[in-house]
Amino acid sequence: MNHFEKFESYIPFDLLIPKNFLLAITAVTFVVLVRYLVTTFLFYVVFYLRRWQWSDLRQIYPELPSKTIQRYEIKWSVVSSIIFGIAGVLMGAFWQMGWSKIYLSFDQYGWTYLILSGFFVSVLHDFYFYVTHRCLHKPLAYKRFHAVHHASLHPSPWASFSFHPVESLIEAIPLPLITLILPLHPIVIVIYLTMATISAIINHLGFEVLPPGSAKHPVGKWLISGTHHAGHHRFYKYNFGLFYTFWDHIFGTQHPGYEQQFQQNTEVKIES
Ligand SMILES: [Zn+2]
Ligand SMILES: [Zn+2]
Repeated sequence: MNHFEKFESYIPFDLLIPKNFLLAITAVTFVVLVRYLVTTFLFYVVFYLRRWQWSDLRQIYPELPSKTIQRYEIKWSVVSSIIFGIAGVLMGAFWQMGWSKIYLSFDQYGWTYLILSGFFVSVLHDFYFYVTHRCLHKPLAYKRFHAVHHASLHPSPWASFSFHPVESLIEAIPLPLITLILPLHPIVIVIYLTMATISAIINHLGFEVLPPGSAKHPVGKWLISGTHHAGHHRFYKYNFGLFYTFWDHIFGTQHPGYEQQFQQNTEVKIES
């Protein structure tokens, strides 16, 4: 039997024993934190330490975030990693108890479904994020919780996990819940979470990495870009999406100047 089709490959011990549960939280938090630190550091080295001509041309803000704000973002991201670690172990406990639809055999739903399931989970998560993000912009919730993330007017890639613990909890909930209704292979979950981390880093990078013209492209215009999310940090009332611009289009919350801002961060500067 394939290694990736065995329950023990993912959960090697009984999670319902308290000692194991705590050990698993420590291990998963460590993995989440290392993945955040290593991936962000790679982007940091390329875009912040080794300045190169191409990235200079694509810088979104006039000035890069200070070291003080970067330290602030890392501090909150470490706390978020613990909450994401707890959510990961809860998802495993649901699976062990037989509550979730996580499956092991690649043949059970076929390879087409395996790939599509990653897209389905991203759309569900994106919608959940859009709705909760709009709620977090209500005055009281903003002041109490979401202001932590918006303290970065010009965020650095370290801001990708920089949330108040309550916001981290809100954002940690959907995936364990989605596994209760949508069949997912654990490999899809691992790849999805890694891609979500990279996407969050790119959205806060401070440099536009998508190709010129993406904001008008039939496919690219539906994807959140660094320019799109930088617009959210700058204008507050626009651009609430996580991966896709569907909901911002449908609910009329996409910044009217987005396409022009994107062009300024790519084509215009390159031509000049
Ligand atoms: Zn916000
Ligand atoms: Zn942000």
